[in-house]
Amino acid sequence: MEQAIIRVAQAIERAERILIITGAGLSADSGLPTYRGLGGLYNGRTAEGLPIETALSGPMLRRDPALCWKYLAELGKACLGARPNAAHFAIAELQRRKPGCWVLTQNIDGYHRAAGSPPQRLIEIHGELAPLYCQSCGAEDPQLAEHLSRPLPPKCRQCGGILRPPVVLFEEMLPEQAIDSLYAELRKGLAVVLSVGTSASFPYIVEPVLRTRQAGGFTAEINPTRTDLSDVVDVHLAGRALDVLPELVRHISGHGICK
Ligand SMILES: [Zn+2]
Repeated sequence: MEQAIIRVAQAIERAERILIITGAGLSADSGLPTYRGLGGLYNGRTAEGLPIETALSGPMLRRDPALCWKYLAELGKACLGARPNAAHFAIAELQRRKPGCWVLTQNIDGYHRAAGSPPQRLIEIHGELAPLYCQSCGAEDPQLAEHLSRPLPPKCRQCGGILRPPVVLFEEMLPEQAIDSLYAELRKGLAVVLSVGTSASFPYIVEPVLRTRQAGGFTAEINPTRTDLSDVVDVHLAGRALDVLPELVRHISGHGICK
């Protein structure tokens, strides 16, 4: 493991353009449940007998906002009740040392930002849980915690419309701006892609890895279990992000800070 970590650290040290892709495994290390791991689900179905993907969908938010919000609120409470972990802080530190290092995350908890990742090099492809905004008048509402302790769904102070978080629900489109920034970075080329705690089934997760590999770049994965990417990447570090990332960053010297 140590040798493999050093190999990844050396590749990062040499590289300027780097992409770190993060998924649910990183937040799970902070104690957050994945949406499939929310409380009260039985075989992935809600108390109402629905698959969680249906309960947390755009159509459900329109049809039955209270039901959709019941599960959004669980995610919200979990996020508010946990904190970024050592892996988030290690990534932010790496971005400080490497001005060409970007983060692409599937997570909606906002922990990268909280840990100090610069927003201009952070692509939140599934959006974020806060701030809420009104679906009728567009007004923003920063009080997620307060709303979660009141009857759901939360309502707009200005017009009484139903509030929603700026997340991508199931059956909704990915944010255009996030997709645009990702593909703009991909076109410029990447020297290293590091996939952390994601099972990597979406094309926008797999594609940066495959493209970079084909172009002769270095690819690595940090995940305790094997994924579809494990056989594709140069190095698979089989461990938790929480343990591996701080160790990895310790092996990267500060050279190149002012590039
Ligand atoms: Zn409103």
